[in-house]
Amino acid sequence: MSTVLQLKDNREQHYARLSPEGSLIPNQKWLACMLASWCEGQGVLPDYLGLESEQFTALTACFFPGIALPERAPSGSVLDYSRMLEKEDLINLLKQYSKADTPETTWMIAIIVAGCLGSDHLWQDLGLWQRSQLSAMLHYNFPKLAAKNTKDMKWKKFLYKQLCEAEGITLCRAPSCEVCIDYPNCFGAEE
Ligand code: SF4
Repeated sequence: MSTVLQLKDNREQHYARLSPEGSLIPNQKWLACMLASWCEGQGVLPDYLGLESEQFTALTACFFPGIALPERAPSGSVLDYSRMLEKEDLINLLKQYSKADTPETTWMIAIIVAGCLGSDHLWQDLGLWQRSQLSAMLHYNFPKLAAKNTKDMKWKKFLYKQLCEAEGITLCRAPSCEVCIDYPNCFGAEE
C-alpha cells in the first residue's frame, strides 16, 4: 500500500474509533476528522490542538468520552504565536460572528486560529479531509461571517481580508478583485 493510502487508512481507523456509534453532531464530526489527522501527524495543530490543556480535557470529555487520545501533537508541531500579532483580532472577529457563546465555540475558535499559523490551505493546516468540511464548519459556527464570502475566496485569505477591512487597511494592489493579478492567489482552487 502506498504511503498516502496507508495514511488515509490509519486516519479512517482513528475516525472510526472516535465515532463508535457512527453518528456525530456537526462540530464533533469535524473535530473527529481533525483529531484523526492529528493522531497521524498531519496538519499543523500543536499540543492540545492549540487549546489550553484544561480546554483540551474538557473538549475530549465532552465529545469523545472514554476514548484514549494523545495530548501532545504526534507531528511535534510547535506554533510560534509571537509572530501572530493579529491573534486577538482574529479571535475577536470570530467571536463577533459566532452563532453561540459557548465553550464549544471558544474551542473551535482557538483551533481555527492555530490553523491560521500554518502555511498551507486552512483546511489542510487544520487536518480536515476536504475543503468542503471547512466551509461547512465555518458556515455552521459563524454563519453571518461565512455568508460574506460570496465569491468563495480562499478561507484564510478571506479571514485576513476581514481583519484588514475592519481596520480600514488596504493591502491589495488593485482597486477590485476582478482586475487584480493576484486573483488566483485569493480565489484559485484550494485543493
Ligand atoms: S484578488 Fe487582489 S484585490 Fe482581491 S483580495 Fe486578493 S489581492 Fe486583494
